[in-house]
Amino acid sequence: MKVKYVAEPFRIKMVEPIKMLTREEREARIAEAKYNPFNLRAEDVYIDLLTDSGTNAMSEDQWAGVIKGDEAYAGGKSYYKLLDAVKDIFGYKYAQPVHQGRAAEKVLFQLLLGEGKYSISNMHFDTTRAHVELSGARAIDCVVPEAADPSLRVPFKGNMDTERLQKLIEKYGADKIGVVVMTITNNSAGGQPVSIANMKETSEICKKHNIKLCIDAARFAENAYFIKRREPGYENKSVKEIIKEIFSYADMFTMSAKKDAIVNMGGLIGIKEDENLFSLCKGRTISFEGFITYGGLSGRDLESLAIGLYEGIDEDYLKYRAGQMEYLAARLDEAGVAYQAPVGGHGVFVDAKSMLPHIPYYEFPGHALAIELYKEAGIRTCDIGSFMLGNDPDTGKQLEANFEFTRLAIARRVYTQAHIDIMADALISIKEKADTVKGYKITWEPPILRHFQASLEPIK
Ligand SMILES: *Cc1c(COP(=O)(O)O)cnc(C)c1O
Repeated sequence: MKVKYVAEPFRIKMVEPIKMLTREEREARIAEAKYNPFNLRAEDVYIDLLTDSGTNAMSEDQWAGVIKGDEAYAGGKSYYKLLDAVKDIFGYKYAQPVHQGRAAEKVLFQLLLGEGKYSISNMHFDTTRAHVELSGARAIDCVVPEAADPSLRVPFKGNMDTERLQKLIEKYGADKIGVVVMTITNNSAGGQPVSIANMKETSEICKKHNIKLCIDAARFAENAYFIKRREPGYENKSVKEIIKEIFSYADMFTMSAKKDAIVNMGGLIGIKEDENLFSLCKGRTISFEGFITYGGLSGRDLESLAIGLYEGIDEDYLKYRAGQMEYLAARLDEAGVAYQAPVGGHGVFVDAKSMLPHIPYYEFPGHALAIELYKEAGIRTCDIGSFMLGNDPDTGKQLEANFEFTRLAIARRVYTQAHIDIMADALISIKEKADTVKGYKITWEPPILRHFQASLEPIK
């Protein structure tokens, strides 16, 4: 069945020129960048799919909000507008703006965790894991096993494995579990959604053991839209009603607003009713971020965030957003290019292991495909696989990741159907000459989070 592209529910009012270098120029640029896409200058990239974080295009209303932003140090209008939006959309009593998602984690997690404690999640995002570990606690991922099979098409591959969650709670003791984190959508599993049923079941388990449940809410709107499309009984509910229900099962959330809230910078903490916890968060926000009524953001950022929260849950917009992914995925299906299926909410995670079976994990197939995409069409992507995972901290040996993905993360409201076709054409053309693609070796790496900075070279 031919998947039709869902036309944009907006038109273009301002443009940002981009340029296409020649293949020879791109080959020279990526060599100068030591074969690491993070080292490229953005102006040498034609289509930038490195991340969907903070790369969104704001609307005319949001830009008007930039002008109207109240820059008062304390008690500004934009702050109250943001609080009203959070109450209205999520139904939580308390909200704290912060400068981005990891700042929310920094403020909140030390209050819940510490030495000897555990955080259990359907999957911790890397900064979330880092803040769990910085508190002295350990992070345990507990996603359903279906997530590990890229070709298995089931509707909610982001779900928590609730049976295993129960067992982990029994094993470590409920008093040792500082928090359970539900990441919606499940970013690290490929933007895969979590169902309401799974959210509810996880919440019941947490309540039974008196454990706090926190939503990592970066892609809350995309997750709600998947529920509307896929979960029986929700097809006639509005996305806003679905969001209210999801959040009613949790005690708090952290949010990177750089994703579904369609801004370039911002974050939030939401707390349902625990006044004491909120008061502790306010104290820490003042030390780390700034006074509570701006939380490390400008008034204009608060204003555009308050507007973006509503634009991000607009159903015409979400239909177009999901439609872009489905269109790209359908073109890849036609050509036999494998990816984490069904396609997730914020991008396509191409299965580089299956496209480049001759490249072993320690020569980084996901990275090799990323370099090929840049050389082929000026497309910047990144590895979500063994290159990103790094070495075992004890033995120093390269770890083998469960997946070798190349992630094409699609910015919101930025690229058109023609750009999506260029992505598909580039992948298809690389697949046709896959056996000529070489693996990579690292020539220099820093001790932590190496993928951002490492130097590499192709293997002869
Ligand atoms: C991006 C992201 C974060 C961290 O947010 P930043 O705004 O980048 O600090 C946390 N969790 C998830 C699921 C994310 O996607």
